[in-house]
Amino acid sequence: MIRPILHYGAPELRQKAAPVTDFTPDLSALAADMIETMHGAPGIGLAAPQLGVPLRIVVVDLSAGARPGEAFTLVNPEWVRREGMQLEEESCLSLPGLSATVARPARVVVRGQDVEGRSIEITGDDLLARALQHEIDHLDGVLFIDRLRGIQRRLLLRTLARRQSRERA
Ligand code: ZN
Repeated sequence: MIRPILHYGAPELRQKAAPVTDFTPDLSALAADMIETMHGAPGIGLAAPQLGVPLRIVVVDLSAGARPGEAFTLVNPEWVRREGMQLEEESCLSLPGLSATVARPARVVVRGQDVEGRSIEITGDDLLARALQHEIDHLDGVLFIDRLRGIQRRLLLRTLARRQSRERA
């Protein structure tokens, strides 16, 4: 089931999500909804807080649904290693229409669990490293605009403030 994605300004996007402790059929159903919602958007990653669910779950599919079997779910992710640095354009389903060049680690190793609670470890570089860092940031209430500095950050914040005052008007 496709669920609505929360947009910038929703308090749920700024909360720290809690670890998953129960690997129930409800969790599998939630992960399936997350993947469907990510594909429907379409996007290459989604975190549970973006659906208003304060749990440490992310889904990633670099093909955005084009290649079956490429989507995966990572529960309770923990960094094992982050190294290097890459600068690429990035956007977020919770900040539609905005993008910016964000510094991210070039290579990452992350450990976590699948929807059944089995341990998994994922090694990623380039786009996968970026997507994992972006989605795991969501679990701590961090958005890509928080990773910007200087003029780029000021411009994006001004655009967002203008949008929010329009929505209130
Ligand atoms: Zn995002």
